[in-house]
Amino acid sequence: MEIYRGNIFRPPSEANSVILQVTVGCSHNKCTFCGMYKDKVFQIRPLKEVKEIINFFKLNYPFAEKVFLADGDALSAPTEYLIEVLKMLKNSFPRLKKISSYAGPKSLLTKSAEELHLLREHGISLLYLGLESGSDTVLKKVQKGFSAEEIINGCQKAKEANFELSITVISGLGGKELWQEHALSSAEVVSKISPHFLATLTLMLVPGTKLYKDAEENRFQLLSSKEILQELKLFLQNLNLSNTVFRSNHASNYLPLRGVLNQDRAKLIKIIDEALEEKGIWPLRPEYLRRL
Ligand code: SF4
Repeated sequence: MEIYRGNIFRPPSEANSVILQVTVGCSHNKCTFCGMYKDKVFQIRPLKEVKEIINFFKLNYPFAEKVFLADGDALSAPTEYLIEVLKMLKNSFPRLKKISSYAGPKSLLTKSAEELHLLREHGISLLYLGLESGSDTVLKKVQKGFSAEEIINGCQKAKEANFELSITVISGLGGKELWQEHALSSAEVVSKISPHFLATLTLMLVPGTKLYKDAEENRFQLLSSKEILQELKLFLQNLNLSNTVFRSNHASNYLPLRGVLNQDRAKLIKIIDEALEEKGIWPLRPEYLRRL
């Protein structure tokens, strides 16, 4: 039995979860910065196989409390299929408290409100969605496949179905050319979505991706660590949130930050200012320790 096919990725906050790979790869797989699933052809794992894997986890982690559904966009699997998986999980782990999954805008937009409610009722409570940027120019350049407005609409559908949302923005994705637009538009879109959780990670160029080649051939200029902090400061200054948990604890980030927005904004900006002046949390995380 093959528990996992290829490399597995999960959000930092799912470190203690059972990772159940129900889909392989990403149904989109076109973003120019992303190398996560380039080696995989998207497919949905047969239910029989998933059942065997759940039985394996049941034997080895009978008291599991959290399950994360992988890969890239597990929510894109058919709703009836996912409900079967959720029923199996519920019957296998008596202490199960939380099921979460990555969700692409396409899944949220194509599933009906009723389907989303059903998935919520059957146990998925938290969805991780990569906004990446709120700028349509940046989204188009990186081939995200959706406009900011479409992503907002998908997120609103998810919130109406009572999912908690965790949104990711990628610092530096606009490069030197579009950093201000990236910061301001991302702040505007995140404010409209008003997610429960917000995370930033910092762009790292992955060999083999289109963006890596663009940078090599000077069509894209990567921001320096201090420019990333300037961009992050501008982003935070323009957010309008009431109770969003913000984390920037991903291993790709130069400066770890954590707080609740907007109430902790001044504190977070002070930490950034001190780092920019090379005081406080200094030095920043060195390049050789950064990873995705
Ligand atoms: S960033 Fe997300 S949607 Fe884009 S290719 Fe990677 S996994 Fe797929």
